[in-house]
Amino acid sequence: TAILELKNVTKRYGGDTALDGLSVTLEANEYISLLGPSGSGKSTLLRVIAGFEKPDAGEVLLEGRSLAQVPAYRRGIGFVSQGFALFPHLSVFENVAFGLRNREDDPLQDAAELRRRVDEMLALVGLSDLGERGIDQISGGQKQRVALARTLVADPKIILLDEPLGALDANLRARMRVELRRIRQQLGITFMHVTGNEEEALAMGDRVAVLDSGRLAQISDPDSVYNRP
Ligand code: ADP
Ligand code: ADP
Repeated sequence: TAILELKNVTKRYGGDTALDGLSVTLEANEYISLLGPSGSGKSTLLRVIAGFEKPDAGEVLLEGRSLAQVPAYRRGIGFVSQGFALFPHLSVFENVAFGLRNREDDPLQDAAELRRRVDEMLALVGLSDLGERGIDQISGGQKQRVALARTLVADPKIILLDEPLGALDANLRARMRVELRRIRQQLGITFMHVTGNEEEALAMGDRVAVLDSGRLAQISDPDSVYNRP
């Protein structure tokens, strides 16, 4: 069943057409890798799905409902950006807790419940021992995991990843790939993962989408990406 559907989505910036009548459907629990040259519209696509940008034309449907009709806090869409955007003055624990404490519809105030939820997510990403550390006292790979835990703790249905592994060294990338796969299997979340790394796209995706000039040049399972008739 479709969890997310884009129909003929166009987004322009002045004279630039970042998305050009793009249509794509994501099934629940699938992992889509998104490839494409710089400037092809990958980040714009994620921002439109996240609701940070409004399309000039076309529509975005979330489980059949227009994104515009669903309040942001009920969309269940999480975003992990390239720079992680963590709060540098807060601890690892507080970074993960922040969203729950400040939930728009229903702030979580029960301290014991908050601790339980945050500890569970820190364990899931392998950071159980680092909750009290400051953000400047952990490595790049650990920051990446904090960003992931902070997104996961909100219990999203869809996670958008914007080159989340780009800043990591090869070893760490490989480890994070395995962890992303495990998390996905454990939690059953739909992923859209922008990466500049073809090998990573093929290894991670159930389907690989290739953007070119704001259009979907191709979308297929990884085995057929290079074997088209
Ligand atoms: P990618 O993520 O594939 O590199 P982007 O989505 O960032 O591509 O950009 C697609 C096109 O839209 C580019 O031509 C880019 O210059 C333009 N664009 C993206 N964001 C903005 C913006 N905020 N203001 C102006 N132009 C933008
Ligand atoms: P605001 O200025 O209040 O943030 P926007 O101009 O960003 O509102 O958006 C206006 C309406 O369009 C809002 O209801 C918003 O939820 C909706 N909207 C924003 N992004 C999208 C999108 N990608 N697809 C469909 N609707 C969107």
